[in-house]
Amino acid sequence: MSNNKYKILVIEDEANIRSFIETILEANGYQVLTAAICSQGQLMFTSHLPDLVILDLGLPDRDGQEFIKEVRKSSVLPIIILSARTQESDKVAALDLGANDYITKPFGTGELLARVRATLRNSRHSAEMGAIPGGKFVLKDMDIDYDKRMIMVAGNPIKLTQTEYNIVALLSEHAGKVLTYATIIREIWGVSDSGSIKKLQVNMANIRKKLGSKPGENRYITNELGVGYRMYEECE
Ligand code: CA
Repeated sequence: MSNNKYKILVIEDEANIRSFIETILEANGYQVLTAAICSQGQLMFTSHLPDLVILDLGLPDRDGQEFIKEVRKSSVLPIIILSARTQESDKVAALDLGANDYITKPFGTGELLARVRATLRNSRHSAEMGAIPGGKFVLKDMDIDYDKRMIMVAGNPIKLTQTEYNIVALLSEHAGKVLTYATIIREIWGVSDSGSIKKLQVNMANIRKKLGSKPGENRYITNELGVGYRMYEECE
């Protein structure tokens, strides 16, 4: 059975955090490989082909962002970054480079396991979505019909502008994953200017209103402050 386990590579220089993660993941049925520096992590990535990487950004020999750049040249391997609260801008940069998600230190067992499960599920889901064009997305009482470009809430069609629809569809295609402001802007408008974030926020406010969310309520989409937006997953 052991070769059916997901293989997770943990790249983290702080020994206590590394062994904390290793212990939790092993106790929950994952196979764990560890590296204390970036270059060692790169070697292990090439030789062991893990299913997921948990990557600290502040590594002694190289910035974790270099690892993401290197991996993304050849692989869609899911990467969860570990960042300290003081590294907000690094976190956003790492997500823009193609990291799938992040965990902010300090974090608990429940959060770590939830993000690992969601990221593994989400990467499988994206692979399947890629193979089947069109289709539907269901989240609570909301349905998205990609072929008809239509969104229904509790069976009622919602009138969205093309831009609003595109934003909701984009978030749903990456459900469970946070998309940074820059990523959304690039996907929706192609280029960004000084007014882009404001434009996105205005669209998001209209979307939330039309989907029936009250202020402060996150029924379908959460705002990850200072980072971006995330749509909940179908099974969350
Ligand atoms: Ca570190």
